[in-house]
Amino acid sequence: MKTAFLYSEDFARYSYGPTHPLKPYRLKLTYELIDAYGLFSLPDAGVIKAEIAQEDDMLLFHEKDYIEALKSANSGELIPDAQSYGLGPGDNPIFDGVYDWSRLVTGASLQAADLVARGECDIAFNIGGGLHHALARRASGFCYLNDPVVAIMSLLKKGKRVAYIDIDAHHGDGVQDAFYATDRVLTISIHETGTILFPGTGFEDETGTGKGEGYSVNIPMPPTADDELFVYAFDEIVPPLLNTFNPDFVVTQLGVDSFHGDPLAHLNYTTQGFCEVVQKIKEISPKWVALGGGGYNIANVAKAWTLAWAIMNDIDIPDTIPRAFLALHEKDGFQSGKLRENEYRVGGAGKEAMRKELERVIGVIKKKIFTKMGI
Ligand SMILES: [Zn+2]
Repeated sequence: MKTAFLYSEDFARYSYGPTHPLKPYRLKLTYELIDAYGLFSLPDAGVIKAEIAQEDDMLLFHEKDYIEALKSANSGELIPDAQSYGLGPGDNPIFDGVYDWSRLVTGASLQAADLVARGECDIAFNIGGGLHHALARRASGFCYLNDPVVAIMSLLKKGKRVAYIDIDAHHGDGVQDAFYATDRVLTISIHETGTILFPGTGFEDETGTGKGEGYSVNIPMPPTADDELFVYAFDEIVPPLLNTFNPDFVVTQLGVDSFHGDPLAHLNYTTQGFCEVVQKIKEISPKWVALGGGGYNIANVAKAWTLAWAIMNDIDIPDTIPRAFLALHEKDGFQSGKLRENEYRVGGAGKEAMRKELERVIGVIKKKIFTKMGI
């Protein structure tokens, strides 16, 4: 097996509530689209059933009292001190099975890390993971447990060094915070600037502290940036840093709320820029733990992660979505019948202003971090 796909039918059993933007159903939609393309029956690919994380694993990062609070919230009833744990009406609702959901997606990320670490596959993909905002004792930004941090901690326990690349529209703040003072994890986050978007952090001058100085890298993108600027920023920063850091493993958060038309963010990426970047990640990451992330247009999520799985398996798939899938799901946002979108290009003076700002940000990163790393 070269590639493993972590999945459970239980992923889609949970609901944050009818008006909440995060729909676990998108994971089932993605699974079914990949299946419709026949990409689970490739000779070197396997589907592995996701299992819940054990408490000891969650405690690699999270505080015991917070785990206990999540456990009591699992019934869906309000608990005492909910607010102090970031739980309650709004971003992080207490819903029926909130603890079960969180430890299932975290368990899947741990399995992905373990499969890759044991050499059972080169790439493992947990589309349910990538919940990068959760803190050690607080839920944040739709995330209750920080599965990327827990998975990375499990790799560090084995004495490994990890590079984390986050391309979600939002800054990967929880992961950055967890590893801000260590040189064993290089975190790189490319996201819409925190001047506009939650969580309001991730500026180019956040570069780590103490031994970790130079190992936290942030590329805040101007709002409305397009594929061209995204690929440019990635090329300038990520390959040279990875080449120098030379990690044992790469963990990525592949959020797609950065796409044109996503209801929560303002970036304008499409399947074109996303696929280009995923292909480049594959080339620089021989051992790769891939996680999902944000994405609030559910058809975009299914399309993008199907394309990502195809890239992971070195398969070029046709643009026409299989008819059997459309018959069931056309109304879910697949009316075009196509998998890929045309590139969305921003033009004019606005584009030039964005390019200038991005050049400035890249200049700051190169001056501060590349110089320190001897690049
Ligand atoms: Zn996001």
